[in-house]
Amino acid sequence: SKAWHLISRPQGLPTMDNFALRELPDAPLEPDQLRVRNRWLSVDPYMRGRMNDAKSYAASFQIDQPMTGGAIGEVVESRMEGFSPGDMILHMGGWRDGGVVGLDMMPNKLPADALAAGLTPQTFLHNMGLTGGTAWIGLLRVAAAKPGDTIFVSAAAGAVGSAVVQIAKAREMTVIGSAGGAKKCAWVKDLGADAVVDYKAAPVLSGLTQALADLGKPGIDVYFDNVGGEHLDAAFATANDFARFAICGMIDVYNDGKAQEMKYLIRTIPARIRIEGFIYTDQFFDCMEEFYADMGGLIASGAVTMRETVHEGIESVPDAFLGLFAGENMGKMLVRL
Ligand code: NDP
Repeated sequence: SKAWHLISRPQGLPTMDNFALRELPDAPLEPDQLRVRNRWLSVDPYMRGRMNDAKSYAASFQIDQPMTGGAIGEVVESRMEGFSPGDMILHMGGWRDGGVVGLDMMPNKLPADALAAGLTPQTFLHNMGLTGGTAWIGLLRVAAAKPGDTIFVSAAAGAVGSAVVQIAKAREMTVIGSAGGAKKCAWVKDLGADAVVDYKAAPVLSGLTQALADLGKPGIDVYFDNVGGEHLDAAFATANDFARFAICGMIDVYNDGKAQEMKYLIRTIPARIRIEGFIYTDQFFDCMEEFYADMGGLIASGAVTMRETVHEGIESVPDAFLGLFAGENMGKMLVRL
């Protein structure tokens, strides 16, 4: 099997020169190992942070080593108790077409009942996995959003954002989403958003102010941040008293770490805004059963739908990853092998 290796640390936006597709050594399995053929790979914005040599919540990728990430694979050989050939598993041995998976890659069997009920395996990389879980935890637990609240969510046509829009609508919230371009904004509207801000067409603050005026709302109660920068500042400017900000991501600054100008940060004081950053894995295991039951129900009822942007083949993984920063995806960006 082959895996994408990080061969140099990117400065700014990564380029193909930072990556190389190399053969992995073949070896007999040791106890507690599986041999896997991957079917679906996830690419996620957080992986950009792992390409830096800086301390963060996820360990840095090492130079000349294979990269890792979420993947769905089929077991072809097993020396791990509880796993047999043919099992479909979720694990962290991504960026490769297959190979050896040990306990460090956290293999988990996909629930047979969910697959039998028609959920596709790759759903466990998005709405029933990292991105759906992040949306659900951030909106309902971190921001404690409740029916009647007015929610603003950035990158609303992305994987996390599109789940936030739909979960919020299912809970009777008023939702304003922002996305880049008319096509994405039309889709966010189709998902049920009450208003959409096209941040590429006009400054975020003017779009958000207009959307609130059109909806007859005084301001936002919750901001779900995927972007940072100008979006975050517009949220400060329009926050109602006691607004809650769930800081999920700041993709606007992942590549260049540019300074963020917050003209309206001071509103945190008079509006008594609560701002909380969160990491999915910190909270997921506490609420996993509740999440699966609730999200499973929302998917089954059609309240939460799924859209995928799919690249084909192991060669396309870096392109798919880089596409996240160019906004090439609607819904979840995936690679099918
Ligand atoms: P998305 O599917 O949302 O893909 C990224 C999207 O971000 C693009 O499609 C693009 O949409 C938008 N974007 C890219 N660059 C910019 C920019 N400079 N300004 C504004 N928008 C931009 O990715 P995910 O759903 O996987 O992730 C969304 C966010 O959630 C990320 O910030 C990620 O890091 C974070 N995250 C955090 C987790 C946590 O535990 N805290 C877990 C998982 C994700 P457009 O065309 O609209 O610009």
